[in-house]
Amino acid sequence: MSLSIIGRSIAESVTLKLNETAALLRAKGEPVIHLGIGEPKSKAPLDAIVAAASLLNTGEIRYTPADGIPALKQAIVRYTGDMYGRIVSPQNVIASGGAKQAIMVALQAILNPQDEVVFPAPYWVSYPEMVRLCGAIPVPVLPEDGSFYPTLLDIERACGSNTKAIIINSPNNPTGVMYSEQFISEIVEFAEKKGLYLIMDDIYHRLVFNGKKPISCYNFLKTSIDESRLIVINGVSKQYAMTGFRIGWAVANKKLITCMTNIQSHQTSGPSVILQAAAVAAIMGIQSGVSSLCATLQNNTNVLMDQLNSFEGVRATRPDGTFYCFVDFSHYSKDSSKLAYFLLDKVKVITVPGKEFGLDGFLRLSTCGSIKDITQGIERIKWALDPNSPNELFIGDRKLVRDWL
Ligand code: PMP
Ligand code: GLU
Repeated sequence: MSLSIIGRSIAESVTLKLNETAALLRAKGEPVIHLGIGEPKSKAPLDAIVAAASLLNTGEIRYTPADGIPALKQAIVRYTGDMYGRIVSPQNVIASGGAKQAIMVALQAILNPQDEVVFPAPYWVSYPEMVRLCGAIPVPVLPEDGSFYPTLLDIERACGSNTKAIIINSPNNPTGVMYSEQFISEIVEFAEKKGLYLIMDDIYHRLVFNGKKPISCYNFLKTSIDESRLIVINGVSKQYAMTGFRIGWAVANKKLITCMTNIQSHQTSGPSVILQAAAVAAIMGIQSGVSSLCATLQNNTNVLMDQLNSFEGVRATRPDGTFYCFVDFSHYSKDSSKLAYFLLDKVKVITVPGKEFGLDGFLRLSTCGSIKDITQGIERIKWALDPNSPNELFIGDRKLVRDWL
């Protein structure tokens, strides 16, 4: 079969693949604990469900403008005002099939082959593949001090004459850390000064703990949006537990939004009208679900950190938000893929190998599940790896005997 060079170079999304694996194993009755996927378990807001169902019931389900229905664009304008303190116009907004598509279309609109895109590592699995899909070159940069917090100097060093864009994701997938206000201000200023596009992937910006406030990158923008190359990405997936609704958006200068709309008009004709109606209801509706999700995640994260603190040989940086924790397991294995598959095979716990995020020796653990998932998941991992643990473990009525240490 003759496949394109780009097509052949693209790896599948491991995070999505592991979700499928979990579902398949559960269907077979395997006692799987899924610490892999980043997807809240709470229900979508009732307003969103009712809005989608009401529209569906009319039977009049039509094409929409390729950049989204006016009500959704207006809701995003309001969201940007409320959450970021920045007044934008509907022409600064495009709604897409998830934040994923919003980022992809933005990259397609700005990149030429061989352009370089710089982003801190560890990074979300899709960034390198999206950049490659545009024929461009991903340039991940690990902070020099070995932390998960990049400095401006780290980014500056990675930027060269071919750099076209920088992607910043804070709070971060996979580390859960939130970059400092100073770093965000420096990066906004740096990108403006150098004429680089700056994609702020803010999909987790409201999912922060301990009373931390989301940071608005617009606070540091010295020009108007239409003169800037700042692209702010957000969506309903994480904050409203609406991953399957597939609605995300980008806010940027009007020219870029027009270009993205043209591209999207040929790709998908825009997202489904039913799901756009649901997104409007979620954004305009009662917001208490977001704070209760944050409280649950903060509690789950505290439980996970307590468990990890008593786990000899592993090291974890405390997340500031999101539902991820990126844990150093290199004491047990330097090869995170082997380790993740070993844990799945032996104790049925799904984790995501750090290698997929650009840092081997680590595993990403998700706190989206229940406290029981977290405590039992870590208990099983400990049992599998720690030579001092007893030789047998019961999972339900199944007895596991450790014959590998
Ligand atoms: N950015 C990051 C950092 C993510 O983790 C995700 C997870 N899906 C996305 C973007 C895309 O989100 P969406 O579901 O809106 O496509
Ligand atoms: N972003 C989530 C994750 O990293 C969902 C899966 C995906 O879109 O990659 O687990």
